[in-house]
Amino acid sequence: MAATAENKALCCRACRKPLFLATQLAPAHERPATASARTPPCTSYFLDALPAWVADVATSGAVEGKLVCACGSKFGSFNWSGAQCSCGAWVVPAIQVPKSRVDARATCLGGWV
Ligand SMILES: [Zn+2]
Ligand SMILES: [Zn+2]
Repeated sequence: MAATAENKALCCRACRKPLFLATQLAPAHERPATASARTPPCTSYFLDALPAWVADVATSGAVEGKLVCACGSKFGSFNWSGAQCSCGAWVVPAIQVPKSRVDARATCLGGWV
């Protein structure tokens, strides 16, 4: 992995268009004090804030909802009351993007977000 977080974008796995930049991701979780060798690693990215282009969804008053790419592919979800990461960490509010739904690349189709 030569590319640093700063020059990466997270792209929709279905249409390859950019969803957000790696710099918009929340820092990786500390391993909880209760973590053991069997505690799974984080299987999702978490965002510090919703990208502007999906903010409409979140201001509709819903406490939780889906994050959907322009192509119709669901790439994540948000829950203002929080959600638990696979590693055991609670994230509040949670803007969660499973790593399996997006590709981290230097550039996506069509450039930047
Ligand atoms: Zn897409
Ligand atoms: Zn985690």
